[in-house]
Amino acid sequence: MFSSLRNRLWLSYALIITSALLMTMLILFLYLLRSPLAYRNTLVELEAARNLLLSSEPGLSASEGMELDDLLRRYDRAFGLRFLVVGEGRQVLADSRAGQAVPIKSPKQFWLLASGSGLRDEIGQIWLFSSTPLADGRILVVLTPRPRLALLAILRNDLLRPFLYAGALSLLLSLFMAFALSRWISTPLQNLITASKRMPEAVSLSLQGPREVQELTRAYNDMTTRLARTQQAQREFVANVSHELKTPITSIQGFAQALQDGTAETPEERQQAAGIIQGEADRMNRMVLTLLDLTRIDSGTLDLQLVPVDLPALLETVREKFEPLAHAATVALEMDLQSVPAVRGDGDRLAQVFNNLVDNALKFTPPGGKVTLRVKPGDDDVLAAVEDTGCGISEDALPHIFERFYQVDTARSGGNHHGVGLGLSIVKEILHAQGGKITVQTQPGQGSTFCVSLPVYRSSANTTVSKRSK
Ligand code: ADP
Repeated sequence: MFSSLRNRLWLSYALIITSALLMTMLILFLYLLRSPLAYRNTLVELEAARNLLLSSEPGLSASEGMELDDLLRRYDRAFGLRFLVVGEGRQVLADSRAGQAVPIKSPKQFWLLASGSGLRDEIGQIWLFSSTPLADGRILVVLTPRPRLALLAILRNDLLRPFLYAGALSLLLSLFMAFALSRWISTPLQNLITASKRMPEAVSLSLQGPREVQELTRAYNDMTTRLARTQQAQREFVANVSHELKTPITSIQGFAQALQDGTAETPEERQQAAGIIQGEADRMNRMVLTLLDLTRIDSGTLDLQLVPVDLPALLETVREKFEPLAHAATVALEMDLQSVPAVRGDGDRLAQVFNNLVDNALKFTPPGGKVTLRVKPGDDDVLAAVEDTGCGISEDALPHIFERFYQVDTARSGGNHHGVGLGLSIVKEILHAQGGKITVQTQPGQGSTFCVSLPVYRSSANTTVSKRSK
């Protein structure tokens, strides 16, 4: 019953109000108990008796001893009050109840406390008193035991009713406040629940309610935007993969058919058909392997062994590998390697990065051009660059070249080496996963430079990475 926000708010209000009222009632009650106001009648009585004695007995100042005792006893009998005369030395000189009542504990208090206060006798009983100085320096004190107040009666007659009214009124008010407050908080929450149930349909919610709820709504809106983007990317990804697989599959089917039905008659034709089938199968294989790598990076399961890597040596191996290809394309493959500290990275994956970059550079550089591999130390890292004198990348294409399946001009990258637009995206992801970065500078018609920055190896750093560090 009290699981809803509204009921809980109301219950807490009711509890707070009730306890506040009870506390106030208690404090008021205690205050009344100690306050002279509660004994006003008694004090008036004490003062009247004292004044009557003073006015009717002008010789009081001069009397002492037996005479004084008799006088005080007489008035005690007449008024039922205790009379004392206290000397300047703070000692009781005469007491109307000497020998009958317990002596007052410390008579000097009569000088310290104001009339109307309470004072204890030797057994702890409290007396209310009213005192006045006499002409000779002594003081006259009239006392009576502090009357017992009818506590329950005060509570019932004087306090309970106003407190009950205040309580009822406050509870009513709290009901309204709880209702308004809970609506303020729960409406945006309820909207969130409804919108969450309608997922994956993305609904953007307006910011309402308290700051925390607004922050939650903002986080929800961001989440749905990201989700929509991911869904869109997934749809495009599947469409791209299907599209990229369609061409080689059609080609393989066509040539396999030609081999089967004898359309490819001569040994040369059959050789050519088999070569094309193998080339397309290789292309599909490369694509599937790259996609697997990307999936592993996305899911955080790509294991990287981060060890010290000698980057110049690695680039030398890459150069050796591509030398025949460069030679065939009449493109000069040059090196400019400075001495640098070892970088932190996975050797095989870094080789994959530079293979892709050099492969692209050779692919897009016309005969007679030049591709240069450079390495130099950075501030806190090592910088490597693959520079070519090729066609460059247009301003429009530049922001997209690291996107999956993006190709600037598919017609340009024909032949056996044509890609599917995954090369640079895997390069970027692999570098990010090991704390590296890639940037590109290009001048259309003049060439491009892909700059890679890699962290210097430090022995204390963690050497196994299986999550994306993006
Ligand atoms: P692909 O595997 O098809 O080459 P990439 O992801 O490696 O795809 O490259 C994406 C696009 O970037 C390519 O289509 C190409 O047009 C452009 N590109 C990449 N490297 C270079 C380069 N060195 N010079 C000019 N264009 C390049």
